[in-house]
Amino acid sequence: MAKSANEDGNEEIRWTLLVQDIHGMCAEIQVPQTFQDSFDWNSCIVKGEGKVYTFSHVKVIQRTNRLRSAGLFSLIQSLWCSHDDNTITSDTGNSQIVTQESGSQDSNSSSPPNFCYVLTVQESSHASLCQDVVFSEGLLLKPCAFRALWDVLHNKDVKRERINTLCKLLYCRIIGPSAVDELHNSSFELFVTDSSLQNATESEGPSDELLGYVKIIGKSNHVLPPDLRQVPRTNYAMTLTAKQLVVTVQASHELVADSYSVIRKAVTQSTTFHEESVQQDILDSLTNIKPVCFPSLTRHSCLGYVYLIEAVVTGVVEETACCWLVCDTCGNPDITVKHGANSQFFCSSCNRAVESPQTRTHLTVLVKVKSFPDAHVKVTLLQSTIDKLLPVSYQDSDQGYDIEAVLGKQPGV
Ligand SMILES: [Zn+2]
Repeated sequence: MAKSANEDGNEEIRWTLLVQDIHGMCAEIQVPQTFQDSFDWNSCIVKGEGKVYTFSHVKVIQRTNRLRSAGLFSLIQSLWCSHDDNTITSDTGNSQIVTQESGSQDSNSSSPPNFCYVLTVQESSHASLCQDVVFSEGLLLKPCAFRALWDVLHNKDVKRERINTLCKLLYCRIIGPSAVDELHNSSFELFVTDSSLQNATESEGPSDELLGYVKIIGKSNHVLPPDLRQVPRTNYAMTLTAKQLVVTVQASHELVADSYSVIRKAVTQSTTFHEESVQQDILDSLTNIKPVCFPSLTRHSCLGYVYLIEAVVTGVVEETACCWLVCDTCGNPDITVKHGANSQFFCSSCNRAVESPQTRTHLTVLVKVKSFPDAHVKVTLLQSTIDKLLPVSYQDSDQGYDIEAVLGKQPGV
C-alpha cells in the first residue's frame, strides 16, 4: 500500500493497494484521495495489509504488463512467494530471484504473473472485510524482512531489486518550489543510517567508500509520513521503516523511493497508516545509536551528499548577500509598507497587519576548512546559522549587518 501523486505531476494524489485473489491473480487498486476517509477504504488503508477483503464495483481501467508498469511488476516480484520461498523464514536474509519469465496468472505456477489489472475506486465501490477467511495457500505476501544497510550496499548477493530497511533519520531535505505546501509535490532526500553502517564506520573510520549513511531519494514527498512533509521538521532523530525501496546501483549509497515505496515512522504500537509497529528492542537499538557525525569534507567528497565542515569564516561573498523582511505568520516576503494606523507592514496573503516582521538573510561565506585546508570553500548559510552568527540587533531591522561580525567565526555546519 502506498500513497503517491500521478507520475506526470498532475496533482491527483491516490492510494495504491496491491491485492491478490485466491487463484493467485494480482491487481492494483487505486483509491483516489477523496475516498480515503470513507469507512470502507480508511480501514482498508490503515489496517488492511495481509487481510482478506471482498471488493465490489471497482472499475477496471487498464490491463498492464511488465513493460508498461515496471515499478508495479518489480513490487510483485519482490513480494512473490514462490513454492521454494515457503520454507524460508523472514529473517534468514536469503534472497530468491525467480528467473522464469513464461509464467501466467496461474496458481500452479511459481513464477510471478506477466500481466495485471489496474482497478479504480468509484462512488459505488465497496471493500468489506471477510472476518473468518484465512487463506494461506498460494499467498503472495511474504513476511517482511528488514535488511541491514551495510548488506544492501556491499553484499553482492542482494540481487532483489526492492528492499526493506529499518533506519534512523539523520537529515531530511525537501526540494521544490512548494516545499512548504502539503498539497503540492516536491522531491526529497532522506539521509539515514543504521547500526550496521555505524559499526562499520566505527571499526574502519569514515572514508570515501564508507559514508556512514545512505541517501534515500524520491520524486514524490507523498510517500513520506506527514511529520516529514511539514515545516519546520524538527524530529530528525526519528526511526523509520522504509519498504519497497529500489536498489539501482550497488554500493552507490543511494536508494530510490518510487510511488510503490512506503516510508513510515517506526513505533511500538501503530495507530495510523503512517506508523508501523516494530518490536521495542529493535526500536531501542536504533534509538540508542549515539548522535552520529557526518563524514568530514575531503578532496574526494561527492556532490549531493552531506559532510561535516569545521571551518573558520575568511570572507563574505558580498555580491549575493542581502536581507529582507517577511511576514511572521506565513513567511510571505511580499509585505508592503502601510502608512498610518499602528502597524507598519501589511501581508496580502494573510490579509492582516504584520506585527513583528522576521528578517531573512542570504549569506554565502568563504571558509577555511580544517579537514581540507587547501580548498576554497563557499558555504551558503542557513537562516538558523546566520541567527547564531550575527548579533541580535540586526534581526529586527532591514538595514543590513556588519560584515566584520562574521569574519573569523566558526559556523556550526
Ligand atoms: Zn502572512
